[in-house]
Amino acid sequence: MNKINMVDLQGQYQKIKSEVDDAILNVLNTSAYINGPEVHKFQKSLEDYLGVKHVIPCANGTDALQIAMMALGLKPGDEVITSNFTFVATVEVIGLLGLTPVLVDVNPETFNIDPKAILKAITPKTKAIVPVHLFGQSAEMEEIMEIAKEHNLFVIEDTAQATGAEYKFEDGTIKKCGTIGNVGATSFFPSKNLGCYGDGGAIFTNDDELAKEMRSVVNHGMTVRYYHDHVGVNSRLDSIQAAVLDIKLKHLNEYNDARRKAADYYDNAFANNPHIKTPVRYEKSNHIFHQYTLVLNDVDREGLQNFVQELGIPAPIYYPVPLHMQKAYKDERYKEGDFPITEALCNSVISLPMHTELDQEQLKFITDKVLEFINK
Ligand SMILES: *Cc1c(COP(=O)(O)O)cnc(C)c1O
Repeated sequence: MNKINMVDLQGQYQKIKSEVDDAILNVLNTSAYINGPEVHKFQKSLEDYLGVKHVIPCANGTDALQIAMMALGLKPGDEVITSNFTFVATVEVIGLLGLTPVLVDVNPETFNIDPKAILKAITPKTKAIVPVHLFGQSAEMEEIMEIAKEHNLFVIEDTAQATGAEYKFEDGTIKKCGTIGNVGATSFFPSKNLGCYGDGGAIFTNDDELAKEMRSVVNHGMTVRYYHDHVGVNSRLDSIQAAVLDIKLKHLNEYNDARRKAADYYDNAFANNPHIKTPVRYEKSNHIFHQYTLVLNDVDREGLQNFVQELGIPAPIYYPVPLHMQKAYKDERYKEGDFPITEALCNSVISLPMHTELDQEQLKFITDKVLEFINK
């Protein structure tokens, strides 16, 4: 059996090696490392794939979120509502810009931000909502967009874990995650569903004015060369990464299908086990399984983690500590017990290997060993 990894970038690369090698060599031969034609080509390909008017490539997903908030003109003192159960980057940029993060609890079924909790958190200072499409599944965008409209708030979708995921509205309209709110921000970190071979990110929008603003922010606040209209940042996707991404984008649907197939295998193996709750698939989203995350019930989680890890099965905890309990984000507004669902999830979730290259032998081994520990 092949070694089991949390992600198998090597196995995936081998299948597209000649194409990728040629594309990278082509960049080396032209030496247009920054703003080369590959960047523009990938930008167009991603706009077509997502069905969005503007894609602005940038250096990473954290920058993407920051640039979106800067371009929307959010100012210190403005409140930004986001999920307490997410990767830290979401709340980090809110803090960095001097905005006030307002954390809210999640839906225990989908792990995504709870629209009812958003409503309760709105104050006259609220300016934006940042839903995170966690683990590859869309947040409840129809409800969130209605709230935003009613309260005149911006919506910045953190779609770092859900590039390619879709959301279906009541009327049957289907849109890609990241193209529903004012802005979508994504990451091309190697392990993401669409990942490059280094760092990368992008911002999406259908708003022409906002796109113009974001293009300026990523480029030192400049629209005319050497004339700086406002404080910006330097955040670029380089040509080599764009070349890799343009190839991998062609495979993205097939990659997401492969993840879904692995998830089906896990779901079947764990079905009806009283100690394991398999991921709930929200009917309005097509889960693309950035992570396959179980909720354990009455299981020694650390014991399980150690047991499988000794057998070569990685089983990390995403995420072990809610943001309001993190040293950096402690705030007198919050105390332990304020976010019962997030806190319970942090104590009971565990993720299993999830990537595009898992085979039946590996999946059988993983599920057999997890069940062996849990049923003993
Ligand atoms: C990965 C990730 C980010 C940040 O992306 P980077 O490219 O690593 O900066 C932001 N939000 C979420 C939810 C993520 O998973």
